[in-house]
Amino acid sequence: MNIFKRSGARTLRSQSSTQPVPQRQRQEPIVKSPREIQLMREAGRIVARVHAAMREAIRPGVSTLDLDRLAVDTMAKYNATSCFLGYRGFPGNICASINHELVHGIPKADRILKDGDIISIDIGVRYRGFIGDSAWTYGVGAISDEAKQLMQVTEESLYQGIANAVAGKKVIDISRAVQRYVEDHDMYIVREYTGHGVGRQMHEPPQVLNYASDDSDGQYVLKSGYVLAIEPMVQAGTWQTRTLKDNWTVVSKDGSLTAHFEHTVAITNNGPEILTLP
Ligand code: MG
Ligand code: MG
Repeated sequence: MNIFKRSGARTLRSQSSTQPVPQRQRQEPIVKSPREIQLMREAGRIVARVHAAMREAIRPGVSTLDLDRLAVDTMAKYNATSCFLGYRGFPGNICASINHELVHGIPKADRILKDGDIISIDIGVRYRGFIGDSAWTYGVGAISDEAKQLMQVTEESLYQGIANAVAGKKVIDISRAVQRYVEDHDMYIVREYTGHGVGRQMHEPPQVLNYASDDSDGQYVLKSGYVLAIEPMVQAGTWQTRTLKDNWTVVSKDGSLTAHFEHTVAITNNGPEILTLP
């Protein structure tokens, strides 16, 4: 799950109007100790194992509720729990968002995967007090070239962001790298939802925008011990989104395809370390 609407400026409209943008309280990012990073590495490994189970299970005919059940069983096997269930009332253990659905899709028995769909699965676990958070978009059966390209560009933009998660650089360097890669490929980076610091809480400071902006936490200088969830959300036809009547599911405003890739990344003295790996 990504942070909800970006704080500071609710929409781009408010950002570009002459009204002053309400400033939220700036909070310093939290430096984690080596022991805490080790626990987050373990939490992240569990997230990666749940993703591996998803990857194997995803095929035409499977429901998003089937995936949710498999996810929670896999978490339980490793003594972890979902940190999405009950978060602001969210009813699922994972977020499962199909095609034009970007994020926060609610798992349901009657949402059945079809050949050619793409599905974004966002997984967050709590393990020994720490959170791991990672999202991935998967193809179902044979997918279109457009879907493949969208997924490739979004995944690569994540790696471009991660390459800038380096002590001494700023948060905005991550944001800029993601934005540049996506826009160079004529796709649209979502602005209303963002990455975030992560640790004992799913959403800690700083906000990690996926585009360069001056009214953000972008000016924080990255330090060894920060842990960030970097998560580009990309759409084929527009950067704009809307939320469905269930008050959760966020979709592209124009119905175009969407993709979401996310890793939890520690900033270390030896460069960025992806924690959500097997
Ligand atoms: Mg997530
Ligand atoms: Mg996240």
